[in-house]
Amino acid sequence: AKTIRLILGDQLNARHRWFKTKSSETLYVMMELGQEADYVLHHRQKVLAFFKAMRNFSNALESAGHRIFYLRLDDARNQQSLTKNLLWLLEETGAKHIECQQPDEYRLDHQLKSWAGANNIDIKWFDTEHFLTGRNALKDYFPDTDNYLMETFYRKVRSEHEILMEGGKPIGGRWNFDKENQKKLPKNQHVPEPLVFANDVSDIDNMLSKQNIKTMGNVNPKQLIWPVNRKQAQQLSSYFCEFGLPNFGRYQDTMTTDNITPGAHWSLFHSRLSFALNTKMLHPLEVVHSAVEHWSNNKDTISLAQIEGFVRQVIGWREFVRAIYWKFMPEYKNNNALNHTRALPSYYWNAETKMACMHHSIRQSLDYAYAHHIQRLMVTGNFALLTGVSPDALDDWYLGIYIDAIEWVELPNTRGMSQYADNGLIATKPYISSANYMKKMGHYCSQCHYDPNKKTGDKACPFNSLYWHFINRHKEHFENNHRMGMMYQVWNKKSDDEQNALIQQAEHYLKTINEL
Ligand code: FAD
Ligand code: SF4
Repeated sequence: AKTIRLILGDQLNARHRWFKTKSSETLYVMMELGQEADYVLHHRQKVLAFFKAMRNFSNALESAGHRIFYLRLDDARNQQSLTKNLLWLLEETGAKHIECQQPDEYRLDHQLKSWAGANNIDIKWFDTEHFLTGRNALKDYFPDTDNYLMETFYRKVRSEHEILMEGGKPIGGRWNFDKENQKKLPKNQHVPEPLVFANDVSDIDNMLSKQNIKTMGNVNPKQLIWPVNRKQAQQLSSYFCEFGLPNFGRYQDTMTTDNITPGAHWSLFHSRLSFALNTKMLHPLEVVHSAVEHWSNNKDTISLAQIEGFVRQVIGWREFVRAIYWKFMPEYKNNNALNHTRALPSYYWNAETKMACMHHSIRQSLDYAYAHHIQRLMVTGNFALLTGVSPDALDDWYLGIYIDAIEWVELPNTRGMSQYADNGLIATKPYISSANYMKKMGHYCSQCHYDPNKKTGDKACPFNSLYWHFINRHKEHFENNHRMGMMYQVWNKKSDDEQNALIQQAEHYLKTINEL
């Protein structure tokens, strides 16, 4: 072969221009790598799903008549490093050219570029043809300001792609229907059973054990639930349109433990398409177009607020966090605006805590490699922010545990949106809350050891005093933030005794944090 074309594990885009023509001079290369399996401690389902989806993709390319070299993790020739393997392959095949699709992760982009520089190799770069916006989207969309508002960004992308638009205006006369959304789940609301697959990945599971790849979390390797090929990914997308979309926005922020439908409490009306999207098995426009089409054929049962909410996540938030990532890496990874340094509490690894909200959110993450946005943001993220966990430790956890976690999307969400470590670049105020929010949006508190209505004393909900501890210890940082002003007024009005009691309660909880 004259040319090697590298396909990374999250570049499973079957519709890429590369695959439109065939050539015996082109060798496609895919590799299972130790460096990818252990750059952080991953959930076992995540490693299995990536490797299985990669193997399926490679088989599909081969059946379509392309030449492909697939290097398995346990192949004796595998040096477990992307660039060492590439160098060996160049020598072995005598290929003169190497072509790559631009990695989405800074880590891999940097690795390939420095390797090419050091070895005098001229890589020809291609776009992944996946995102709607480029790496430089912030520069393009905000030429005159560094006040990057997601809403502004979203409107531009939506207009450009004419999604839910009519005559240059948003359908329904408004861009955003958030106010209609975000309701608590009523007890009698039917929740659809999640569509799960039963992919047998025992062979890969055995290989991981033999190769000593350390992972976390649980799996039944005979029944991996995640989509691992394009057909399954498309099935999940159709299933979402039919069963999730009608209530997507309305119950987007709700949390429950109740098995209204057996096995549905963890997925609710969420699409669970993030893995299929982030591996590029599905294109965001493809997902959005089928949802919009389904909505337009079912307007009597699906309100505009539902489809708008979904579209905003996929073409707004998802593209926006990527733009933030590429604008601010690599410095972004070191942001720690609030100087938080605490170690991650032990129950993040085993769900063993009396706090029901934390227990359920972590338990399901260990069981399914999945938690929905509000569990990530307002339960585990909120608790870490209130208690001052180090963003480094937290990033590793989020990057490892979730099926959809790839740094370009995990990092801005964790460090930025959830931990305010970027000093408000993404979130205009910190996402913190006491038990009030949990009570309002979910059903966890009713089954908890702690009392959501108590701030101090025996069984007082830790979130309550920790909330005020945060407010107090970051006074300098937030007192003049206009979105936080009200909370400081409330705090300042409290008597010294009340303030002291709250601080003492929180200090006690912080000292015994692993026992909560
Ligand atoms: P749905 O609720 O069905 O939403 C539809 C789609 O919208 C998602 O599949 C996703 O592609 C997109 N989306 C929604 N919210 C966001 C967002 N904030 N940023 C980017 N895309 C979004 N998402 C990841 O894909 N990978 C991560 O590693 C990741 N880490 C996160 C860490 C924290 C602390 C937080 C608060 C959020 C994180 N998110 C991450 C965003 C979001 O929680 C997940 O995309 C979502 O829960 C995936 O489930 P779903 O497919 O059922 O989403
Ligand atoms: Fe969580 Fe507190 Fe509610 Fe318990 S009482 S579920 S700890 S918010």
